[in-house]
Amino acid sequence: MSDIEIPESHPRYRSLLTRHRIEEGVDKGITSKQGLIAEGRGEAFDYLLGERTLPAVDEAERAAAAHLLLAERPVLSVNGNVAALVPGEMVELAEAVGADLEVNLFNRTEERLEAIADHLRDHGAGEVKGLTADGRIPGLDHERAKVDADGIGDADVVLVPLEDGDRAEALAAMGKTEIVIDLNPLSRSAQSAAVPIVDNIMRAIPNVTAHAEDLRDAPREELARIVAEFDPERVLADAETAIRSGPMGDAEADAARTED
Ligand code: ATP
Repeated sequence: MSDIEIPESHPRYRSLLTRHRIEEGVDKGITSKQGLIAEGRGEAFDYLLGERTLPAVDEAERAAAAHLLLAERPVLSVNGNVAALVPGEMVELAEAVGADLEVNLFNRTEERLEAIADHLRDHGAGEVKGLTADGRIPGLDHERAKVDADGIGDADVVLVPLEDGDRAEALAAMGKTEIVIDLNPLSRSAQSAAVPIVDNIMRAIPNVTAHAEDLRDAPREELARIVAEFDPERVLADAETAIRSGPMGDAEADAARTED
């Protein structure tokens, strides 16, 4: 089913749109079947968070933009769910901050790597890394350790959306500044990140890009100040508090959605 078949007036429009994009991703060979399970887990957390970007998370998205603008070799990692959900938005963010895009798969197959790289190019990407796989992340088994030596291998700042906990921890242990997007504030990925973005990737990527565009001409001292003042613990704590206080009522959730 294509996007336009879901009426925008539907109260769960965004969540249904997300599901359909993942289904299409599986049909096109971009997303793995396990990606469907990750999507379900994400949806549950998004529901508990009220399907909104918390104020502390918006600050994380601004800090992510500042990190990416300050970086010498920023890389945005793309897996099967990311490619299905936000391909054009990833290309726009890469352009806004001067980052490379690298396909990075948990269940790595040549077919899926090529399908994702083609899909990104269809959405305007130039070079897509991840196919050379001549670098390794220490501490992971062979297949899951593969990266491009001149991509994630050499990056100083890496954005890893929807990453599995093992690899997120291993990348952080390599000394890279890691920006994670994950709706679960308890996941090891979110907990090991310098910047944990506890938000749906559908909202997060356009918002990081908007912050990057806003900060494009800011002096480096201003970017460094945003980075230094950012507190990852507060993001995780605020997200947990929001979850514990339960999903918002419909009226409250609608009001929050119209604010974003
Ligand atoms: P960990 O080991 O860190 O606990 P995991 O390796 O089990 O996590 P996966 O099962 O691979 O993680 O799930 C990927 C993560 O992505 C989940 O935590 C899920 O909440 C999150 N996620 C799924 N869809 C989205 C989305 N649209 N936006 C943001 N996060 C998402």
